[in-house]
Amino acid sequence: MTTGRLYDIQGFSVQDGPGIRTTAFLKGCPLRCPWCHSPESQAFYKQLSWMSMRCLGLDACRSRCINACPKGAIEEGEKRTDVATGDELRMVHVKRDLCDNCGACVDKCYAEALTLCGKDYTPEELVARLLQDKNFFDTSGGGVTISGGEPLSQIDFVEAVLKGLKENGIHVALDTTGFAPWESLERTLPYVDLYLYDLKHMDSAKHEATVGVPNERIKENAKLLAEAGKSLQVRIPVIPMFNDDEENIRATAEFCAKLGEAVVLVQLLPYHNMGVMKYLRISDGKPLEATPPSDEKMEKLRDLMASYGLNVTIH
Ligand code: SF4
Ligand code: SF4
Repeated sequence: MTTGRLYDIQGFSVQDGPGIRTTAFLKGCPLRCPWCHSPESQAFYKQLSWMSMRCLGLDACRSRCINACPKGAIEEGEKRTDVATGDELRMVHVKRDLCDNCGACVDKCYAEALTLCGKDYTPEELVARLLQDKNFFDTSGGGVTISGGEPLSQIDFVEAVLKGLKENGIHVALDTTGFAPWESLERTLPYVDLYLYDLKHMDSAKHEATVGVPNERIKENAKLLAEAGKSLQVRIPVIPMFNDDEENIRATAEFCAKLGEAVVLVQLLPYHNMGVMKYLRISDGKPLEATPPSDEKMEKLRDLMASYGLNVTIH
């Protein structure tokens, strides 16, 4: 049986296509963007998540999760003072190098400070869940957005879900890095109304040095989608010192302009650093730390891209 792995389903989404949408986030991505604000989207496997805010830090409770771990990966951690009672609490610390994400500790945690990130669905289960929000789609001109991670990495599952949604008359958007075999994208053509298509850098060597894969396939797939008559909403994360220079923005604008009427909108997404806490939940790592671009800078880049005849917004 085909199943797919998700890390989240978000209702009332107004950022991922027209109207009110429900966005299904699939787990796993072949890229490693250092600015990623959803680090839990990157790995294909289920991951232990520990939220410090929820950790009760009581002696009896702490022994439950520490003793449950067959790898000895949970140890006593930092002290914290309870703001309500003034009691001293001691949280736990997960030794990531020992944890194999088995999940044995999760059921022992009453507070749900420990959870496993990643849930498997059959296509039928996911379609049924998404259809629960159909009234919102119908009244707002919205629909479903399949996002990730990189959804095309789970193409058998995604194709079945897209087909199920279309059979129910749902407007469907697919949010993709474009880094997938054309044969995978081609299988989505009959069902997808709008592609949310990421472009990160026009120079392939710089693209590969920063996110781990070159960009030729991404650019080629964008051209093939345009030739197939599909609509693209191009999304460009604006990352300081990576892709925010005039040369790259001009090259990106030229590329989009050549795709013609296929590009219905270009969205500039300014870098932000709101994903830091998510990194700490699943790893000891940290995201890129940079200063978000100013409003003036974003407006300048928007105007530059718009001068190529493109419809450009700042997200
Ligand atoms: S992780 Fe859960 S079980 Fe362990 S000490 Fe914190 S709240 Fe208690
Ligand atoms: S997921 Fe498994 S290995 Fe990791 S801390 Fe929990 S019990 Fe230990």
